[in-house]
Amino acid sequence: MAHKISDECVACGACAAACPVNAISEGDGKYVVDADACIDCGACEGECPTGAITE
Ligand code: SF4
Repeated sequence: MAHKISDECVACGACAAACPVNAISEGDGKYVVDADACIDCGACEGECPTGAITE
């Protein structure tokens, strides 16, 4: 199961910089996780200022 980014996302980009496999990119108004690339490491979770990233 890949991590997910909810609508709480304010598109700050903090998570994208933290992802070791570059699975996070800017989508339409929020960031999105590429489920095929995500290795479920959890590095992005703590970086999000709004708590938008969940397992
Ligand atoms: Fe990237 Fe790890 Fe977050 Fe998956 S859990 S999107 S691999 S930082």
